[in-house]
Amino acid sequence: MKSRIIKKIQDFVKSYPTEQLTNTNWGVPIVGFASAKDPLFTQLSSVASPTHAHPIDFLAEAKTVVVFFLPFSKSLTRTNIKNHNSSEEWGVAYIETNEMIKQLSIHLQRFLQSHGHQTIIIPATHNWDEEKLISDWSHRHIAYVAGVGKFGLNNMLITDQGCCGRVGSFITSAEIKPDNRNDTPACLYKYDGSCMKCTDRCVNEALFAKVFDRFKCYEMCLENKKKHRSIGYADVCGKCLVAVPCSHANPAIKKKQALENKNIH
Ligand code: SF4
Ligand code: SF4
Repeated sequence: MKSRIIKKIQDFVKSYPTEQLTNTNWGVPIVGFASAKDPLFTQLSSVASPTHAHPIDFLAEAKTVVVFFLPFSKSLTRTNIKNHNSSEEWGVAYIETNEMIKQLSIHLQRFLQSHGHQTIIIPATHNWDEEKLISDWSHRHIAYVAGVGKFGLNNMLITDQGCCGRVGSFITSAEIKPDNRNDTPACLYKYDGSCMKCTDRCVNEALFAKVFDRFKCYEMCLENKKKHRSIGYADVCGKCLVAVPCSHANPAIKKKQALENKNIH
């Protein structure tokens, strides 16, 4: 079942731009699996939000949480490097990816239900507390539990294909072997205290090494939403994700491997 789900996700993402005529193209998704019994799920109420849900809050028979990371293309991230406001292409990608996550989740729900497994799908975004700006189902934290990536200083999930992309997840009663997590940080700052390029790139004094002001960050996202209102609801920014070492790679692993190679030779 695991390999069939991965293939279903990859095939869907590959054909979606042609079938739906989207402006956005996505790379090969990274897919991870977590056991609904993973003890980390109970800890999310202390690290993500006090009211963070447990998989069994959505589905009493939950056995597995499936997570997918949809990488953005380098050509898309290049559009968001210059200027104070996010690019229109970045906003369009956000809107199109939200819709794609919805359609992909429905596709997988139908597939799993046809095999007798209950499946609950969760919206890609805006499932949060409007005042505190925290989510009761943080797809990024869920992705961490499933071993899909690690958090960077920029608060994004850094996967083996970087942090430029979007995360979705769903819960199923199908029992599927969970993936392992490893302990090596993916962010260079967390690995050896270096980099901090994301803080330099922040356009609204929201991101610092020791402080993240989510309200200042969202203020910027709302400014972009207003600027790009003709394309739909795109409350995004993403300046701290682009033109940084973790945009499209796991830079700490690369650095670690380079050091190991140097020591061997
Ligand atoms: S830009 Fe550097 S410090 Fe910031 S999240 Fe990426 S690797 Fe970490
Ligand atoms: S998304 Fe924008 S405002 Fe928020 S931390 Fe990143 S650069 Fe700063």
